[in-house]
This record gives sequence, structure tokens and C-alpha cells, in this order.
Amino acid sequence: MEKIKMITPLVEMDGDEMTRILWKIIKDELIYPFVDLKSEYYDLGLQYRNETDDKVTFDSAYATQKYGVAVKCATITPNAARMTEYDLKEMWKSPNGTIRAILDGTVFRAPIVVKGIEPCVKNWKKPITIARHAYGDVYKASEMKIPGAGKAELVYTAEDGTEIRELIHNFDKPGIIQGMHNVNGSIESFARSCFNYALDTKQTLWFATKDTISKKYDHTFKDIFQEIFDAEYKEKFDAAGIEYFYTLIDDAVARVMKSEGGYIWACKNYDGDVMSDMVSSAFGSLAMMTSVLVSPDGKYEYEAAHGTVQRHYYKHLAGEETSTNSVATIFAWTGALRKRGELDNLPELMGFADKLEAATIKTIEDGKMTKDLALITSLSDVTVLNSEDFIKAIRTTLEESL
Ligand code: NAP
Ligand code: MG
Repeated sequence: MEKIKMITPLVEMDGDEMTRILWKIIKDELIYPFVDLKSEYYDLGLQYRNETDDKVTFDSAYATQKYGVAVKCATITPNAARMTEYDLKEMWKSPNGTIRAILDGTVFRAPIVVKGIEPCVKNWKKPITIARHAYGDVYKASEMKIPGAGKAELVYTAEDGTEIRELIHNFDKPGIIQGMHNVNGSIESFARSCFNYALDTKQTLWFATKDTISKKYDHTFKDIFQEIFDAEYKEKFDAAGIEYFYTLIDDAVARVMKSEGGYIWACKNYDGDVMSDMVSSAFGSLAMMTSVLVSPDGKYEYEAAHGTVQRHYYKHLAGEETSTNSVATIFAWTGALRKRGELDNLPELMGFADKLEAATIKTIEDGKMTKDLALITSLSDVTVLNSEDFIKAIRTTLEESL
């Protein structure tokens, strides 16, 4: 078989620990034999980030701005223990945070649905994608403990010195207050990323806040979404046969539970934090969750939602066998290859991404899977494979389909 040709390189961001081991096997077994891979390689492994004073992370993000599509392996976010483990010069920031700040993007997380791994919510038939606004609100809030009686106010001082004041509360006893903010530009980027991703994946978009109670703060989110939708996206949504649907957050939660899935749920920062953990655990496994960062101007970075699976890596280093699930990392590759194919008009590359995803799902549905899935599957007659053999089993299924 002749290898599939590419035009523009993918930005490839290698990573750490067990996922770095999987990364190489995935490329050797599932990509190189079939695709004449063009990639611009950035080593985001912690050792090289440290050697380059983290410049490599910035360079990889700039390359993503230039080429438009990246695929990323999970990476270590250093903490005190990693400082000694890797003898770091500095506690480098989270690469995902750095890349997200440069691309000004929104993260979309979606479960990979397979037969035999049933969601806890029995009517969920299709994936629910969560889009979380990743700026501001309670994550950048100032808080104060109020020691006793007194007046608490919000004060805004304009550059010319004029003030606007708003009473928070007249305290007669001790209490607490919190001041949080967001900026319109960030909400606008969030809205555009959501509308673009909905068009891209042909899924209806839901958005919910508590605008009936928060008449200025949450209402601004609602208004910005609606204004951008009406001005820039309404016709495109009509043409694609999808909808934009706004409701109150409590109504949204109730509807999500009763829905069959198959839509994108855009959430404010806190709602997204809480709801993405609920949705992902209800769908079965973190190892079956994909993640894509989409910038408002249409740049894409694909990755798995899980981390570097450190515990498995130490087993691997000790020479023990591991059974680490590579599905989300494989889907990061297929997502990126399909998007590259779409942008460069390469139907063969898009077709290959579809076939590799189908082969991955079929392998599991045929009863061949890693240990994490074997523990939760409803299938009987399951073969538990080690990390490498699972990827090789997918290759066999893929070759049969080509
Ligand atoms: P983790 O790597 O997601 O793993 C937590 C646990 O979840 C694992 O120990 C394992 O459970 C299970 N698990 C996750 N992915 C799995 C997979 N593919 N196959 C099988 N089991 C899987 O989270 P962590 O251990 O908290 O973090 C490790 C490192 O990853 C940290 O340094 C953190 O900074 C980094 N991290 C990176 C990203 C990213 O790059 N996007 C995201 C999160 C965390 P068992 O041990 O019970 O088998
Ligand atoms: Mg959380």
C-alpha cells in the first residue's frame, strides 16, 4: 500500500512518562506504516523544557498559530516533587496553560463512546462535549473575611478618578465577601470558539448561566453570546441544520440528564470545572476522554484529557508489564490528522483518521482492551492486553479494514 501524502506539517508536541512511551508505539504501529507523516517536532518532555528554559513550549504554541493544527502528548506540570526528580532550574508553568494563553482558546472535552462501556446515565447514547471557559470568575477572585459590623462595597475607580460604588452588604456580624471579574474580550473569544466548534462538528450548542439572579454579570455572558450569534453565525447554523440554545443553568442540568447526548454544552469556568468531571466519570473513564483546544481564529490543538499516568510509568521503569489505555492519545492523532486533511483538502488523510478511529473502537467492541476498561465493561469474554499489545491489536484490525 502506498503511504498517504501530507502537504502541511502537523505540529507534534511530545510529552512525558507513560504517555511518551505510548506516543512512540502509536507512531510506529499506527501512523508511520500508513501515512508519510509530515510533522514539526517539539519535545515538551520536562527535561527538554528545562534545558530550553521552557522556550520550546512557547515555540510549539507559535508553530500552532502558524500551521493551525497540533497534536500534543500529556506533559508533567511541575510541583515540588518534580523539582528534585528532574533537577529543575525553575518550577516551569503548565504547558497547557502557556499554550492556552497564547492561542486564547477554549477547551472542548468529549468522551469516546463504545459498546460495552455504558454510561451511568442510561439514556445517554451520544457523546456530550463540554466547553469550559478558561478565564476569570471565581478562579481569579479576591476574597475577604469580614471581622464584624461594617459596610462592604464594590468600588470601581476610572482612570480620571471618578468612582462607581455598589453596596454589597451592611454587616452587623462577621461574614465573608468575594469580588470576581471577567473581561468582554475573553467572553467574546469563548463564544466564537464555541460557535466555530459547533459548526465544525455539526452539533447543536447549549449555553447556560444564572442570568435571572446575576442580572449584570451572567447576563453579560448571555448577551455577548446572543449578539455574536445573531451577527456572525445564525445563517451558518441554519445552513448546517444545527441550533444555538440558551437556557438557565439549573434547567440545563435537568435537560442534560434526560437527553440522549450529541451536543456541545458551553459552561462558565466554574460550571465547566464541575460538570466536566461529572460528565466524564458518568461516561466511564478518563482514559476515554479527548480534549481539543480551539482558538477563536480557528487553530486546533488535540490531546488526551488524562495526564502522564505516572504510576504506570514507574511500573514500566521497574520492568513490570503495564496495561495503559492509549485510546484518547490515538484519538488526539486522528483528530489532528483529520483536521489537517480537511484544511489541506486531503480526503485520503481524513478517511484514514476515520478508519483508525473505527479500528480502535472495533478492537474494544471485539473484547480486546486494556485493564481499566476490562474492569468496567459489560462485555463478557474479554482479553486484557498490555500497553503495546493493545496498540498492535488495533493495527491488526486497521489492516483488515484497509
Ligand atoms: P493521570 O496521569 O491522568 O492518572 C491518574 C490515574 O488515572 C492513573 O494513575 C490511572 O489509574 C488512571 N489513568 C489515567 N489515564 C489512564 C490511561 N490512559 N490508562 C489507564 N489508566 C489511566 O493523572 P495524575 O497521575 O494525577 O498526573 C500525572 C501527571 O500528569 C502529573 O505530573 C500532571 O501534572 C500531569 N497531567 C498532565 C495533563 C496534560 O498534559 N494535559 C493533564 C493532567 C495531568 P490507576 O493508577 O488506578 O491505574
Ligand atoms: Mg475539576
